[in-house]
Amino acid sequence: MYDIKKLVILTSGGDAPGMNAAVRAAVRSAINNGIEVYGSLSGYHGLVKQELNLLEANSVANIIQLGGTILKTARCEEFFQKDIRKQCCEFLSKNNIDGLIVIGGDGSFRGATLLHQEGGPHVIGIPATIDNDIVGTEYTIGFDTARNTALEAIDKIRDTASSHNRDFMVEVMGRRAGFLAVDVGVAGGAECILTPEFPSTVEQLAYQLSHPKRKKESSIIVVAEGDAPGHTIDLAKRLNQLANKDYKVCILGHTQRGGSPTALDRKIASRMGAKAVEYLLAGMNNKMVARVKDDIVPVDFPKPEQPSRNFDDQELLKLNEAICQ
Ligand code: ADP
Repeated sequence: MYDIKKLVILTSGGDAPGMNAAVRAAVRSAINNGIEVYGSLSGYHGLVKQELNLLEANSVANIIQLGGTILKTARCEEFFQKDIRKQCCEFLSKNNIDGLIVIGGDGSFRGATLLHQEGGPHVIGIPATIDNDIVGTEYTIGFDTARNTALEAIDKIRDTASSHNRDFMVEVMGRRAGFLAVDVGVAGGAECILTPEFPSTVEQLAYQLSHPKRKKESSIIVVAEGDAPGHTIDLAKRLNQLANKDYKVCILGHTQRGGSPTALDRKIASRMGAKAVEYLLAGMNNKMVARVKDDIVPVDFPKPEQPSRNFDDQELLKLNEAICQ
């Protein structure tokens, strides 16, 4: 067993429901193994400000059901600077910190890897983003809660769409990948799902929508926000002109990031939090706790040149096309 006496835990990047469950599991697993645990608040800001907060078993009581993160999260620009990271390394070393658990996305993991390379402690990452798009893991904490939140919204929109015989476009999150859009679209019975991975031109879309196999009184198109949140408003305007339709737009935005985590997110986050401590104790370093084929395993951090996983299940999109007509 690797001798770990003190570790730091932080949440960084975008928040995701289930982060608290991971913090709770990691803190308590560490304490059960005789390790002292400190939290760095607001991602790397705590390290930059040289402030650590002791976390005890009761510090993480009653948080498993809470969305967001009690450790706060943030993007920390200063951490991109090597001299600032050097000061963080010195601070951690002075305080005898020999492990760091980072809960966040691939950017946060890159920062942690650099910190280690520059003299920092061993690092283990726990993937958390509602986009589910980190290379190396089939699941990221927060995805299930976000897709259920979006699905609930779509079910509500369908009620008004069908009462008024209206067509809607619903924009969901998903910066680089369409995992959220596809799951929500299939589960919500969407007539069409637009993802960054399988783009169509507005003309192709207009043609497709003006030639339905069966005439419907109302419909819902689910659109991934891609790299331009809010772009669905313009898309609807173009489609309204080209296809002579009157699409109403609903942008779900940050509602998808909040809320009490689902049972699945709490369970996976609990397992991942405990595994992160186990990996540190086994002497592992620069590894991400990943979900692969229903198991939790250590994998390398995503490579900076290919950090994001793409949605590629064309079969599922075809199935949706067939059954939504
Ligand atoms: P995510 O972790 O969700 O991908 P970001 O890419 O915004 O989110 O990264 C979160 C934070 O991680 C950044 O604000 C910064 O503090 C740190 N970080 C990201 N990339 C790097 C990097 N290349 N070097 C140093 N720190 C980084």
